Amino acid sequence: MIEKYFDVDRLYGRILRYYVAKKHYSKEEANAIAQKIIQKERNKRICKNTGCKHLLNDHIRNHDSCLVESCMCEKFTR
Ligand SMILES: [Zn+2]
Ligand SMILES: [Zn+2]
Repeated sequence: MIEKYFDVDRLYGRILRYYVAKKHYSKEEANAIAQKIIQKERNKRICKNTGCKHLLNDHIRNHDSCLVESCMCEKFTR
């Protein structure tokens, strides 16, 4: 399954709206939470291969070779 492009800005905005509108957090609190969630989500999408560390989206079909020119990674590693 090909994962859709990870849209950080959109996700960030949605998390913010959720915590401010539905949970009645202050903007600062919501911001802090959103940053934590984004960080976690980003980590999940980063290749753990030493020397790669590129995003899932940089790998062919999300599991094969890395598309970054200088990178030798041949398999996405979680
Ligand atoms: Zn890479
Ligand atoms: Zn990789």
